[in-house]
Amino acid sequence: MMQRTAVGLLLLMAAVAAWGRQPVATGRGGAVATISEPASQAALQILNRGGNAVDAAVAAAAVLGVTDPFSCGIGGGGFMLIYLAKDKRVIALDHRETAPAYFHPAVFQQGGKAMPWEAAVPSGVAVGVPGTVRGWHDALARYGTMDFAQVLKPAIKVAERGFSVGPNFHRINSRNEAKFARFTSTSALYLKDGKALPVGTHFRNPDLAGTYRLLARQGVRGFYEGPLAAQIVQAVNAPPTQPGEAVLSAQMTLHDLKHYEARLRQPIRSTYRGYEIYGMPLPSSGGIAIAEALNILEQFDLKALPRAQAEHLYLETSRLVFADRNAYVADGEFVDVPGEGLLAKAYAAERARAIDLAAAASGKVGPGDPYLFQNDQSVPLRPQPAALAAEPAHTTHLTVSDREGNVVAYTFTIEDWGGSGIVVPGRGFLLNNEMTDFDFSGPHPNVPEAGKRPRSSMSPTIVLRQGRPAFTLGSPGGSTIITTVLQTIVNHLDLGMSLADALAAPRLSQRNGNETQVEKRFGYAASPQAKALAAYGHRWSETDEIGAANAIRFNPDGTVTAISEPVRHGGGSALVQGR
Ligand code: GLU
Repeated sequence: MMQRTAVGLLLLMAAVAAWGRQPVATGRGGAVATISEPASQAALQILNRGGNAVDAAVAAAAVLGVTDPFSCGIGGGGFMLIYLAKDKRVIALDHRETAPAYFHPAVFQQGGKAMPWEAAVPSGVAVGVPGTVRGWHDALARYGTMDFAQVLKPAIKVAERGFSVGPNFHRINSRNEAKFARFTSTSALYLKDGKALPVGTHFRNPDLAGTYRLLARQGVRGFYEGPLAAQIVQAVNAPPTQPGEAVLSAQMTLHDLKHYEARLRQPIRSTYRGYEIYGMPLPSSGGIAIAEALNILEQFDLKALPRAQAEHLYLETSRLVFADRNAYVADGEFVDVPGEGLLAKAYAAERARAIDLAAAASGKVGPGDPYLFQNDQSVPLRPQPAALAAEPAHTTHLTVSDREGNVVAYTFTIEDWGGSGIVVPGRGFLLNNEMTDFDFSGPHPNVPEAGKRPRSSMSPTIVLRQGRPAFTLGSPGGSTIITTVLQTIVNHLDLGMSLADALAAPRLSQRNGNETQVEKRFGYAASPQAKALAAYGHRWSETDEIGAANAIRFNPDGTVTAISEPVRHGGGSALVQGR
């Protein structure tokens, strides 16, 4: 007991120390929140030089590829949501990794059975055609004012000069020792004598600086064609393994890279208590899941309920929504996802009736039937949920706004921490393992197929009120991204918390399981709030922490508040232009 108190005190002291890093800043003009101080500084620099929010977001993302290389980078993909002030509209830019042409439904099976997720990750097969550079290019070309040469400058500087390895970098690096040790190029960059780089090591990445310089000179083609494209193909088809190591190799082609496309998509739009909620469409499940959940929660007057009951409803809603998401949602270019039904207010009203106001469901619940709420009820596919592969929790989310009122909410990733574990030799960046987001077992809407994008949970979100941005947020964390964004919205709009408190609050993640995941960091499971919820039948499983989110609030007086994570993932950085 004493020991527990001492640990709690230490955590609290660490939390207070991190709060000193100013995760909240209010000002006039542009604002930025990221999980990395140099990345936020880069965005601010670009804004101060006259760049817009899109320019600044790409600059920050490029720095994150250097300082947070195990979560994100040019070897991966992402989803960018952009509010364009002059057009008053929201745009969704999908640059998710895509399955190469050799893919087929059994690509992650051995002897007719799904292979273990852990075996699939460190391999060439796990690597999808990276979308990040194409996404950055399209965002800048269509909505930015600067080019690669201008926005990559800060990241080149950080990669060249280097930085001191901090505890969070070291922690994630340590967890990846075994994976990284398999590959010569990765061991050389991120390990020293087979061990993670110690805290305090001065880490430089001149190879990545060189790769960014190549992009600055040649633009997007420098990545998808020519020598770098050939090296990517080589790295996945003949992974640079240590002698004696064998991993699955891919059959990616130069054609796969050359023909990669980012997609501009119609965002998911829904409403919640007078707010307009814009989210990411397919192949992310994030926008649909959050909209469906809010539609269900709108059936209840959460403000009038005791806090524990309101949270009980949030958890039960999330359970139902995950049942639907797991059963029906995948890449909409390949599968008839019943999106219209899932987003219908009438469907939400029916789902809400499945919730017991006083008791948690015992374990998993089944999906509903959204097809009855589609306009076209003839769609024949009513897929059954299959066994789900593990969905771990990494990635990064950043957000930027500018003086003109443009807003960018951007989540991007290489999937698992350290992705596939393969650094492209001589290029300084890790390749993703996004293909393991497919369902291995089939038949399932999210089965692997050539040219398909695996279902994601990434949920960059922009919320409007009376046609103007009210706030924006997003989070890392695999499938917990959905619960983090949803809970933060409920905390803020229904439970009366400021957006900063809503984002910092302990997270509860119910994803249609027997137990709800909570954070060890905050000792939540032993808290009075947890006890009040346990009376409804909720049970907990603990994980270290869930999702380091970032947000911006647009205040009614015209000021803007950038809000970053105070403690998770080492704490983030929120900066504003004029105070
Ligand atoms: N692969 C995950 C997704 O697209 C993101 C990675 C993570 O957050 O773990 O949803």
